[in-house]
Amino acid sequence: MSRYFTRDLRPYVPGEQPEDLSRFVKLNTNENPYPPSEKALAYAREHCRALNLYSDLSARELRAALAAEVGLEPENVLLSNGSDELLYFAFLAFCSAQRGAVFPDISYGFYPVFARLCGIPYREVPLRSDLSIAPEDYFDRHELVVLANPNAPTGLLLGPEDIRSILERNRDSVVLIDEAYIDFGGLSCAGLVREYDNLLVARTFSKSRSMAGARLGYAYGSAALIGDLETVRYSVNPYNVNSYTLALGLGAVLDGDYTRARCRDIQETRGYTIQMLERRGFAVLPSAANFIFARHPDIPGAALYAALKARGVLVRHFDKPRITDYNRITIGTRAQMDALLAAVDEIVRTER
Ligand code: PMP
Repeated sequence: MSRYFTRDLRPYVPGEQPEDLSRFVKLNTNENPYPPSEKALAYAREHCRALNLYSDLSARELRAALAAEVGLEPENVLLSNGSDELLYFAFLAFCSAQRGAVFPDISYGFYPVFARLCGIPYREVPLRSDLSIAPEDYFDRHELVVLANPNAPTGLLLGPEDIRSILERNRDSVVLIDEAYIDFGGLSCAGLVREYDNLLVARTFSKSRSMAGARLGYAYGSAALIGDLETVRYSVNPYNVNSYTLALGLGAVLDGDYTRARCRDIQETRGYTIQMLERRGFAVLPSAANFIFARHPDIPGAALYAALKARGVLVRHFDKPRITDYNRITIGTRAQMDALLAAVDEIVRTER
């Protein structure tokens, strides 16, 4: 840190991104193992706005296409540079020194980072002992409620009725549901935007639409909430999404069949991987995401993480008290998961 730095920040620590990708089976940052759709790539090549011009500020076509997917209007959609950016916008828009935020103690690691960056108070509510979220813990909070659904890194899902009850009991504050992984087995609550003007839903093209590197996120919310986020956007970086990504994003929405087919592939591979790991003695939480949270009865989480890495398989270990026995494993292709299983077999043999 230089002597000029004025901040007391503890930044988010992303999963490792090795320079030489060819040396690793990379199952540590929940990327989609499949490339974006060919049709989307062709669409982007044809429709990308000239790059000497700034990107389209309103991106109405893409917003309309995303709105139509859940029966809303373009005014109900905000676009962002990955969903991380819109989460940041939401903390900026809906929190202050007087109005804090609340989220689970085990969830997406960026929430407390944004809270500290924005200088707002926050509370982390412990998950139940089975690592699930207790909806009633989020009733009557009078502050920004942030819940990932399915949660990360557990993969556990709250049902639509649970979400509705949280909305009902927080009529005077914003409830932000982060649906980064919803396409892998959950039911989106975006339709509830029509009934609840305090609901904000965060979505991303990074996972189900195979576009992590293109950086495209979006929010669904009432026109008033989206307007607030636009105010923040125009106060930070109005041209926050680049022209190529806008075109690729629209191409991806137009080829919804491809997304649905790849999500099915990943769900199938997830089922296979869970079965194979359970056969090897692992306990695996039921996952509605493109990752699983698994622990071995005899091998500590950190040791398994290191042994896998030594064999060229990268997974994610969180050095946190209640989850230190676990590793979060992204679902890749069947071949990648077989490589993981082969490495696990070798580790289990040498541990004996
Ligand atoms: N929310 C959750 C729960 C996530 O795990 C991630 C991915 N790290 C994000 C949001 C942000 O993803 P992106 O910025 O790529 O849209």
